[in-house]
Amino acid sequence: MTRIVYVNGRYVPYGQAGVHVEDRGFQFGDAIYEVCEVRDGNLIDEPRHMARLERSLGELRIRRPMSVQALGHVMRQVVRRNRVRYGLVYLQVSRGAAPREFYFPADDVVPTVVCLARPLAPARGQQNAEQGIAVISTPDIRWQRRDIKTVMLLPACLAKEAARKEGAREAWFVDPQGFVTEGASSNAWIVDQDGSVITRQLGSDILPGVTRATLLDALEAQKMQLIERPFLLSEAYAAREAFITSATQTVMPVVRIDGRQVGDGKPGPVALGLRRKFHQFAAISSA
Ligand code: PMP
Repeated sequence: MTRIVYVNGRYVPYGQAGVHVEDRGFQFGDAIYEVCEVRDGNLIDEPRHMARLERSLGELRIRRPMSVQALGHVMRQVVRRNRVRYGLVYLQVSRGAAPREFYFPADDVVPTVVCLARPLAPARGQQNAEQGIAVISTPDIRWQRRDIKTVMLLPACLAKEAARKEGAREAWFVDPQGFVTEGASSNAWIVDQDGSVITRQLGSDILPGVTRATLLDALEAQKMQLIERPFLLSEAYAAREAFITSATQTVMPVVRIDGRQVGDGKPGPVALGLRRKFHQFAAISSA
């Protein structure tokens, strides 16, 4: 349960927290965010999340509302005040509130900052990982700057809801050529029959996942074969293993895609091994 939320300089009870009705995040999706894992009371990969947040702000020319250190302080306060040991911390920055107008507002409009933390039961994630999850595929109908972590998440909501209706936990977006771009809220990976780990290369068509970056370090350290290239949905159907990565799920095995069994239909050794070792390669900072 979330008890305390940070909103524009104040820590307020969850039920009383709010932003202006003309906030540009609300009206235009003119806002960016980060989700950072909290594990055993620590923030996971905070520097990479902060670097991506700064990049997202820069790409949209939203002013950084405070120093990275101050943002880190807010995240820690929110984690502590909500007594989250395992869960997530969410940080959102919008361009601010101003009378509805497409043009950017005047320079004196201050960005809106919201931060909240929520516990997640680690046992539930582990249970999912032991069973593996199902995914469905769906056309990628998002805009062309998916490298920016904006709150314009309607295509992801539609895709996730479609997945849930089919008994799946995630949706994989597919580009017009039949290549998987990424998950609705995760990066997508397969392991081919030769044991090579394959994930799409970075570009404007996917989010540069923090978990993805840390997993690349893990693969390199373990001298595992990695190929960064787009893979077809048909390759994923025929893969030995598949998995997704995100801050809240770390490495999550995929055992079914569009109702087809992946490999032997059980979480594979590569995915499970990477999941087990993941935090050895992540930056861990105390909250
Ligand atoms: N792609 C998309 C579209 C996402 O929403 C997310 C989760 N925020 C990811 C990838 C994974 O990124 P991360 O590992 O930084 O959570």
